[in-house]
Amino acid sequence: MLTFDWVRVYPVYDQAYEIVWELRGAGARGRYKFLVQRSANAQDWEDVANVVDELHVLDSEVPASIRHVQLYYRVEVESPLGEITVSEPVIVFNNPEKRTFLIAKEIIRRGNILHTKMNGVEIAAIKRKTWGTECTKCHNPILGGTIDSKCTVCFGTSFVGGFHTPVYTYGHIDPLPVVEREGVNTGNTDLSETSMTMLNYPLLRKGDIIVELHSNNRWYIKVIQLTEMKRFPVRQNARVSLIERSDVVYELEVKRPEKEL
Ligand SMILES: [Zn+2]
Repeated sequence: MLTFDWVRVYPVYDQAYEIVWELRGAGARGRYKFLVQRSANAQDWEDVANVVDELHVLDSEVPASIRHVQLYYRVEVESPLGEITVSEPVIVFNNPEKRTFLIAKEIIRRGNILHTKMNGVEIAAIKRKTWGTECTKCHNPILGGTIDSKCTVCFGTSFVGGFHTPVYTYGHIDPLPVVEREGVNTGNTDLSETSMTMLNYPLLRKGDIIVELHSNNRWYIKVIQLTEMKRFPVRQNARVSLIERSDVVYELEVKRPEKEL
């Protein structure tokens, strides 16, 4: 049965919220349609967005009249089979302690300034598809799995498009390790790996991709570690590995947004 594993709402910047979800039981291949709704009382619902095959939506147009009340969000999904499921209403922060939330929000705000004005670079964070329409080119319905890691339809994920819409943000990526002198044993240091930090959105997982916009370097997320404040995620630290230029992942189109991030 198709259900929501979870639905979460994160403050991204002042009066803008990101609604993020994860599905469970999304075994059917095909298009998943989502309707995101907002409410000031968890009874009267207003549509925020309709999206297809996505797992997040930004709500930056909260009406002034309800900006200072507790907001609720819910998500409705229609599976490729026409099955409809609605999530439970979720509040903007699950933490009942308002003070904790305000402090976390302040940490995010400062982290944002640090990344945008000082040590960060413009990045696109791209989440790997784990459900959706089956690849039309390389997926074998009998054997299953992905046959062609160089497939330009699914990029080796077996789902059409391979990845969800990029989210443009800032992150800090440490330089790659350098071999100082030839012949010096560098132990197990992997020269294509380094670490990256970014804010709490979008929450990444192993296999997701980071694109540095200025250099077009692309990185795989290998390990992700969340910094939380009383269970509220404020920062992500990741072990990332540089993807070789010959990889099909470089065929993914990533366009720098026109307006400033
Ligand atoms: Zn394919």
